[in-house]
Amino acid sequence: MLIDTFGRVATDLRVSLTDRCNLRCTYCMPEEGLQWLAKPDLLTDDEIVRLIRIAVTDLGVEEVRFTGGEPLLRPGLVGIVERVAALENRPRMSLTTNGIGLERTATALRAAGLDRVNVSLDTLRPDVFRALTRRKRHEDVLRGLEAARAAGLTPVKVNSVLMPGFNDDEAPDLLAWAIAHDYELRFIEQMPLDAQHGWKREGMITAGDILASLRTRFTLTPEGQEERGSAPAERWTVDGGPHRVGVIASVTRPFCRACDRTRLTADGQVRTCLFATEETDLRSALRSDAPDAEIARIWKQAMWGKKAGSGLDDPSFLQPARPMSAIGG
Ligand code: SAM
Ligand code: SF4
Repeated sequence: MLIDTFGRVATDLRVSLTDRCNLRCTYCMPEEGLQWLAKPDLLTDDEIVRLIRIAVTDLGVEEVRFTGGEPLLRPGLVGIVERVAALENRPRMSLTTNGIGLERTATALRAAGLDRVNVSLDTLRPDVFRALTRRKRHEDVLRGLEAARAAGLTPVKVNSVLMPGFNDDEAPDLLAWAIAHDYELRFIEQMPLDAQHGWKREGMITAGDILASLRTRFTLTPEGQEERGSAPAERWTVDGGPHRVGVIASVTRPFCRACDRTRLTADGQVRTCLFATEETDLRSALRSDAPDAEIARIWKQAMWGKKAGSGLDDPSFLQPARPMSAIGG
């Protein structure tokens, strides 16, 4: 098992497949100038599948989420999903994506064994989308979402980040739209993980702001802690159900005590937390022909050093050197 000194067990593995992206969301990437990982430093498809196999067979991982950067940009994605689906202890598999290109790949991903997708969409307004992501791809995302649902990658979850001055007035519209299309909407508080280090706590839209805004149009009833488990999203049923809305309040209502995550970057580093400042190198072990048992030992040791919390509230908090796109969100 992957267990830490606080007794938390990691069963959910997030795998970043690339640090590259075809959008430039303001809260994630700068408009230009971000240095990409060098190709030889990236794990190969074989290396990724081997690490996932070790995680599920030797370390108790039950759920694998592919992310990035934009994971649909990884040419071998469908093959990786297929090979992970064929593992003896097949984990549940999902993908977090901006949805661009999902229209073409959703059916193949489903056939390969992917269970679900989370698609990120922050606005219903094409002009705001362009300002937030610095690209004109709103339509592609909407088509990707439709394709995901049609392919059975359900429940399709939609992740939205609200940014002051861009889309902070859109929470109720996004929820009405998500309900109409049978997507499960979750708002994510903006975290200090942007490459430009521009995050300010004072300016951010909090879970409290989001809920107040939603309550101007909807009746929200909180779901119990039991339903939540270790999920990062707190959830509310909307207007008596069955539809729900979630809020991932990593900043104002952190859920570190129930965290069940371990993370692998596209260049083969284990991170125990999004906000960790340390990483543990698995790639060197992989490339020096270490046996599975040795790789599992290094991973377990990394997990043992997991800190109690993100440290966001500590005056000495330092934003991680790598941005969200390179860590894997
Ligand atoms: N490119 C894919 C996408 O956008 O879904 C996967 C990677 S992205 C880093 C994963 C998630 O992190 C997205 O839902 C995105 O909105 C979110 N995200 C990125 N930067 C963030 C930040 N600074 N604070 C909160 N969420 C962020
Ligand atoms: Fe790309 Fe996702 Fe970051 Fe937006 S949030 S720039 S889509 S990696």
